[in-house]
Amino acid sequence: MRILPFALKTLYTLELSPSNHVKVNEEEKWSLLKQGIKFIDVTNYFSKPEIPVAIYNYPNETFYDDEVYRISEKINHTVMYEKLAKLTSFYTRYYKSKHGVESAQWLYEELENIVNDVEFIHLNKFEHKGWKQFSMIVRIEGKKNRDNIVVIGSHHDSINLILPSVLGAPGADDNGSGTVTNLEALRLYVEYIKEDGMKNRPDNTIEFHFYSAEEGGLLGSMDVFSRYREENKRVMCMLQQDMTGYVSDEKNEHVGVITDYVSVEFTEFLKLIINKYLSIPYLETKCGYACSDHGSAIRNGYPAGFVIEGEFKNTNHYIHSTMDTIDRLSVGHMGEHSKLVLGSVMETCALGWVLKGVKRQKTKDKRQKTKDKRQKTKDKDKRQKTKDKKNSIYMYKLVLLYIYIYALTTLASWSIFNFHFIYIFTTTSLVTLCKNTPGGDG
Ligand SMILES: [Zn+2]
Repeated sequence: MRILPFALKTLYTLELSPSNHVKVNEEEKWSLLKQGIKFIDVTNYFSKPEIPVAIYNYPNETFYDDEVYRISEKINHTVMYEKLAKLTSFYTRYYKSKHGVESAQWLYEELENIVNDVEFIHLNKFEHKGWKQFSMIVRIEGKKNRDNIVVIGSHHDSINLILPSVLGAPGADDNGSGTVTNLEALRLYVEYIKEDGMKNRPDNTIEFHFYSAEEGGLLGSMDVFSRYREENKRVMCMLQQDMTGYVSDEKNEHVGVITDYVSVEFTEFLKLIINKYLSIPYLETKCGYACSDHGSAIRNGYPAGFVIEGEFKNTNHYIHSTMDTIDRLSVGHMGEHSKLVLGSVMETCALGWVLKGVKRQKTKDKRQKTKDKRQKTKDKDKRQKTKDKKNSIYMYKLVLLYIYIYALTTLASWSIFNFHFIYIFTTTSLVTLCKNTPGGDG
């Protein structure tokens, strides 16, 4: 296939906040991420209207203390370390690479081993249009209310932001850690379900989602939750696990409860679970719009929450590079996140859900609107600057090319002139010489 040098670049529509959209090419997309600006790539979903987020009756006390403590004791740090080591051994898990498909296949087989012999637990690949790395969904079908769904999410892709298609991305923390956190919680939860002839099968449906292409702008989870919305599925809550292994200060170990762009009510429930079942406290923190896959759930009207490894400013700074490695992480900390997952699942698996209302996420206060506006102007300025820079480089190249061609032409005409001169001079000299040679034929 021939690639035309001036072929038009694909443009993507990115949602930087509910009211701020930009059109960019692929390089600009990665450049935004390098600056720490997250977004939802809504190229395929832009025309879809925003859906208000549902509010349900989340428990304000816990009922499964003994069970959760008992299961949590079985969290196996050695197993978690081994799984994470394997996951980070793939050169990259970039969603457009062949390695990314191989790592997904490995994860699929791991999930198969966990769920394979239970008749009401289904494992499905969720394929995407446009790239080969698939998402995965483990569905533990509820025995009473199979349409009430509780989702535990994490993304399994990784990225090196310098050159995504070329450089390695072990992605230990982002998001090998969240993947393994959920893998371990799922393993133990399935083990619990199986006790005494499946007596612990949940009333509601519990789903564990492993998304592809979060790093491309929540692409995998947007496909999943948009499909769920189209099919009118009822997701009662979604808990995201993304970056669960880095501890910046061991003396002040905690988890970070995200409070922006999440369901306030569900987040209150998550705090209750942390206080009850984790050995470490939480700190409230913010991560901006679309900072992980829970953003896709919220955008489709599903209440979601996100708990990260610590206060956002002190999270792992080695992510999105070759330095996001396992040696910088604490498996014990990841285990704390597994407790959060187990506690959340146990306390919601038999809940009789009641819809209490809906909330429009777009209703923002004046300050947020001004902030968005300022950000928009800032982005515009930045883009204009890049454009100007590109134009000046182009002009510079043009001038250089002109000088080069001018020099070449001058040199060439000079050489031709000289050649003519030498030719005429030599010929004339020879003729004169011949004429003056005695005895010549003349
Ligand atoms: Zn991530």
